Amino acid sequence: MIELKNLSKTFTVNGKDVKAVDAVSLTVNEGEICVFLGPSGCGKSTTLKMINRLITPTSGQVFINGEDTSALDEVTLRRHIGYVIQQIGLFPNMTIEENITVVPRLLGWDKQKCHERARELMHMIKLEPKQYLQRYPRELSGGQQQRIGVIRALAAEAPVLLMDEPFGAVDPINREMIQNEFFEMQRALNKTVIMVSHDIDEAIKLGDKIAIFRAGKLLQLDHPDTLLAHPVDDFVSNFVGQDSTLKRLLLVRAEDAADNAPSVS
Ligand code: ADP
Ligand code: MG
Repeated sequence: MIELKNLSKTFTVNGKDVKAVDAVSLTVNEGEICVFLGPSGCGKSTTLKMINRLITPTSGQVFINGEDTSALDEVTLRRHIGYVIQQIGLFPNMTIEENITVVPRLLGWDKQKCHERARELMHMIKLEPKQYLQRYPRELSGGQQQRIGVIRALAAEAPVLLMDEPFGAVDPINREMIQNEFFEMQRALNKTVIMVSHDIDEAIKLGDKIAIFRAGKLLQLDHPDTLLAHPVDDFVSNFVGQDSTLKRLLLVRAEDAADNAPSVS
């Protein structure tokens, strides 16, 4: 479980204070996907980076499973939190295997265990380990690189995943496939996920909760269905779109479809 309490960040630029994140409080329960949604510059990435302390909060607290993370050292913190950075961010000079095992190697796993883990993760995304582990990122397609970015974040078996626009850099068809693949992994592994997106359809499809941000403030945090049916104000209403009735109809997500599938007995 992740809890943010009155989390704020003020940047000082040329002597001027910019309030990038303004007293954000929210809870994401174990096994849930919470999507941060909002226009560019509204503070989504800054909020995410304060959770694993890539950015130091100006004030407020982050709790993981009830523990105030400000008391944890950064290595311990990042062992509990996988991170998928904006624009994939694979290291170009490392092989796919080296990329996937960056964090496990930092944590001192032995070679054999790292190799086994890399193979296991490649199977999860249906890329043949023998064929791909020794390649370099540039030798893979954009969609393949994006999937490597996701499994890299899973490598050290962290229970919490932070993802900054993880599927932004692929074409719509591949994106759909990678989203589905990710959703299945997330449900199977019961990860607690915060994902930044600027795509309302992605948020509806994947989110158990959607957090709508504007100018550093959290405006609304709700299940997609509630958000579409009862936006708190005109900004949220406009942001989620005019065709929200249609979107509600499309709100039959992978999970629901599986639950409602006629059972063969
Ligand atoms: P988003 O991810 O929602 O697009 P960000 O969290 O990156 O937004 O940025 C929120 C605000 O904080 C923006 O106004 C941005 O210009 C500002 N900001 C982000 N990082 C820095 C920084 N390192 N220094 C100064 N201002 C920053
Ligand atoms: Mg961002």
